[in-house]
Amino acid sequence: MTRYEAKRLPRQTGPAGWNAILPPQDPLPVLEQDLIADITIVGGGFAGLTAARRLHQLDPSLKIALLEAGRFADGSAGRNSGFMIDLPHDLASDNYAGDGLDADRAAIALNRKAIAFATEIAADCDLPQEVFDPCGKYNAAATRAGDAHNRAFAGHLTKLGEPHTLYDQKQMQEITGSPHYVSGLFAPGTVMIQPAAYVRALSGQLASQIDVFENSPVTSFAKQGAGWVVNTAKAKVSTGRIILANNGHLESFGFYQRQLMHICLYASITAPLTEAQIKTLGGQPRWSVTPADPMGTSVRRISGSYGDRILIRTGSSFHPTIETSRMRLRNAGWVHDRKFRERFPHLSDVRMEHRWAGMLCLSRNGSAAFGELEDGVFSACCQNGLGIARGTLQGMGIAELALQGGSEIADHFLAQPDLPRLPPEPFASLGANSYLIWKEWRSGKE
Ligand SMILES: Cc1cc2nc3c(=O)[nH]c(=O)nc-3n(C[C@H](O)[C@H](O)[C@H](O)COP(=O)(O)OP(=O)(O)OC[C@H]3O[C@@H](n4cnc5c(N)ncnc54)[C@H](O)[C@@H]3O)c2cc1C
Repeated sequence: MTRYEAKRLPRQTGPAGWNAILPPQDPLPVLEQDLIADITIVGGGFAGLTAARRLHQLDPSLKIALLEAGRFADGSAGRNSGFMIDLPHDLASDNYAGDGLDADRAAIALNRKAIAFATEIAADCDLPQEVFDPCGKYNAAATRAGDAHNRAFAGHLTKLGEPHTLYDQKQMQEITGSPHYVSGLFAPGTVMIQPAAYVRALSGQLASQIDVFENSPVTSFAKQGAGWVVNTAKAKVSTGRIILANNGHLESFGFYQRQLMHICLYASITAPLTEAQIKTLGGQPRWSVTPADPMGTSVRRISGSYGDRILIRTGSSFHPTIETSRMRLRNAGWVHDRKFRERFPHLSDVRMEHRWAGMLCLSRNGSAAFGELEDGVFSACCQNGLGIARGTLQGMGIAELALQGGSEIADHFLAQPDLPRLPPEPFASLGANSYLIWKEWRSGKE
């Protein structure tokens, strides 16, 4: 009998900061009684939740079950920096430019489909601007090399016909309150989200339309007659089809072995700033900065019911085990404090309230792990670092593939080349971690 066992389940390090700054929320139910469904979705991040919404949109009569291992918004969906980016965002490049004009135009058009879908969700869920803000973002440069990256990226955007504005040091300081940045490149198409609030709202809305469960990790699934049975610790779902939207943990069920790169990123967020600190900081109450060098530091200034705060995201490490350690998180925290002091020397009395780590999944060639893996088992995983937009897009595409047999979005992912294999251990870990350390060192003050 065909059977897939989860070799490991998600384990998080540190609190999901975005979730921790929201008021506590009552949990959704745990799967405790056996259920019958047409389609069962495994994983409740951007891909899984979007797949559920798109399936329900396409056929409201479908019986859909969604099983999330932890609490919604406690996984990477509540741990990211909240940039839902429309433009090319190739983390392996020097300046984010992608594979060429045609490929970038196609990628931008698809990312904007995902953003349009998320914008509908924001409208349906009545999300305020502090949760879903189509305000654009700045690529900020802290060095002459960073400035050169920005200018090269600006040239690329001009060729693509994409609007953008270059800012000098004084203008960047007026926006951010930080004297650190020598220039900035503003592009208007990014939506900045409070990711945990977005995921909470979407999962809450879906709970009134389909069967949604949290704290219900899937431990195995197996062929049963013409369909499948999906097992959790307490109960099972008999289902026609399965959508695996569990990102890197796709490999935990034995798929794409040694083809997925499990990268951990680290972030810290301050306690709410006091009135005096806000005044000392200056600048605008909300802005978002990605570094001119993709391996540098992202910073967000947020302002809302969760207070006025600053988020710092930097540091990465490679973990085939799909989890990091407390020690690595503590070390990343020291780097965050140093990066914070470099950017905000006038805010020496601000302390970090939450620090966390989160996993993302990359492939060596940027392809997704998308498609029908075997009869009735689909996958929408491996978002290559741009999981808010691409996870949403994969969720839409996999629902369309499962129900309609294809779509423009599904065809895009299905046409991607296969994911190359990684070298054997320990060479993969040694190689990847050395590469990450070198790239971060090279990004310097960025
Ligand atoms: C610090 C940090 C900053 C980031 N910043 C950004 C950013 O600004 N913009 C951006 O686009 N991306 C960013 N990312 C990446 C982004 O968070 C991910 O790419 C995105 O979450 C992927 O979405 P997903 O739905 O595919 O997977 P996930 O969000 O990882 O969701 C998968 C879900 O599957 C669940 N799961 C796993 N195994 C099982 C199982 N056996 N049973 C049931 N459920 C299971 C997990 O608990 C998880 O909730 C960042 C990531 C980190 C860590």
